[in-house]
Amino acid sequence: MTFDYDLFVIGGGSGGVRAGRVAAANGAKVALAEEFRMGGTCVIRGCVPKKLMVFASGYSEMFEDARSYGWDLDDGDFDWSRFRRKLDAELERLEGIYRKLLKGSNVEIFDARATVKDAHTVTLSTGQDITAKHILVATGGRPVVPDMPGAELGITSNEIFNLEELPKSILIVGGGYIASEFAGILNGLGVKVTQFYRGAQILRGFDDEARGLVAEGMRAKGVDLHLGTNVVEMRAATEDDLKGVDGGTLMDGGKPAPMPGKAAGHGIWVKATNGNEQVYDQVMFATGRAPNTDGMGLESLGVALGRKGEIVVDEYSQTKVPSIYAIGDVTDRVQLTPVAIREGMAFVETVFKGNPTPVDHELIPSAVFTQPELGTVGLTEEQAAEQGPIEVYCSSFKPMNHSFAGREDRVLMKLIVCADTRKVLGCHIVSDHAGELIQLVGIAVKMGATKEDFDRTVAVHPTMAEELVTMKEPVRTA
Ligand code: NDP
Repeated sequence: MTFDYDLFVIGGGSGGVRAGRVAAANGAKVALAEEFRMGGTCVIRGCVPKKLMVFASGYSEMFEDARSYGWDLDDGDFDWSRFRRKLDAELERLEGIYRKLLKGSNVEIFDARATVKDAHTVTLSTGQDITAKHILVATGGRPVVPDMPGAELGITSNEIFNLEELPKSILIVGGGYIASEFAGILNGLGVKVTQFYRGAQILRGFDDEARGLVAEGMRAKGVDLHLGTNVVEMRAATEDDLKGVDGGTLMDGGKPAPMPGKAAGHGIWVKATNGNEQVYDQVMFATGRAPNTDGMGLESLGVALGRKGEIVVDEYSQTKVPSIYAIGDVTDRVQLTPVAIREGMAFVETVFKGNPTPVDHELIPSAVFTQPELGTVGLTEEQAAEQGPIEVYCSSFKPMNHSFAGREDRVLMKLIVCADTRKVLGCHIVSDHAGELIQLVGIAVKMGATKEDFDRTVAVHPTMAEELVTMKEPVRTA
């Protein structure tokens, strides 16, 4: 049987683009369909614009610190529309690069939605049917909003980058990566931020001590974080709700929050589980993401979907239908860009290079770009203690740059060590540039470094990270 293509990729995000390019470079005839903008969540409405906003938001503190260091600076205002124009231009530039890379690799691009018709056929939204020997589904995920009265008034991370104006106040719902990162970003940009998290501490799944310090740091910087709290209902605020609301809670002149398709009216009235009622300019839900499998035609073909709608795949990213593979967030394994890229590379290695390559999901370093930032690799203290005897090495201190600037922020450097093998099982860092630091520690941990390997390494002085090689005694064992 002959096919139009060797590979048809559905989804132009990080994973799909990489897999398509590399397969084409290996001689495969490849096509890729994307219904929105090339680059996917990471480039268009995720990691990239988020990190640029993290940078933008960090300047408010930098200006304060600069004055402590002797610089004579006036207070400046942040111009959201100027930043947004630059951000839009940058994302357009990056999208252009993605397209160019695909075209340069001879991948044919279809700017259309694609669904799967049968094991070897996709149907485009233009009505065209295309056949391929292999189909790779890399459609990513989307934010989900809880089912509650008035939830449609809120926004998600999809809309946050397109706001015409920054709100004066915002309620962020959720305690995961996205909620906690945006709480810091918007706080740094001068928005009055309230965050509700339904559980006992934000960043569930991360090391307890680290998440505690992040939460403490966020509060110290001005985020009004409420734990054990959720939204019960919301509605457009009425004139009565607005009476007595302090001027800072509403936008200038009580103007409607200008979100396309969102009837924000004169602010949003929110009732919390603790009975509190408050009006916010904007409410942002960061309450998790769902895989984009709706209406794809997958289940009827025999492709198994999990409880959240994620595509069930084996270690080679193959679905129950042998010609159909899936990578990235749509499989809900580890929702991180570099993981999707690796899954794409392993797929090409397996299918187009005859070298079956399982994806290694062990010891993935990652960072949460909260303020303060969190970098982590390996097991948390709590996870490690369940597996066997451990030693915990931990140092928490005020670094010299913060101390000189008169800031209270402390950093945390923490190593979890297996008492038997001496291997470093986990490392958790809360500090400026923790993401950069954990990338490097991740290499050592992935190589199986022991505590003694860390100790043999000479300290780089004066740095914060030197603590990682100078912690002599465990603070506790478990
Ligand atoms: P997360 O799963 O990390 O967080 C979802 C949050 O919403 C949790 O705090 C959860 O609470 C809460 N929640 C879920 N349902 C409700 C509800 N009905 N009412 C109130 N709260 C609710 O998802 P995110 O959307 O923040 O991020 C998705 C993924 O994207 C992450 O897992 C991560 O892999 C990736 N990501 C990575 C980043 C990075 O690498 N820096 C940055 C951003 C995203 P509970 O804990 O109780 O379940």
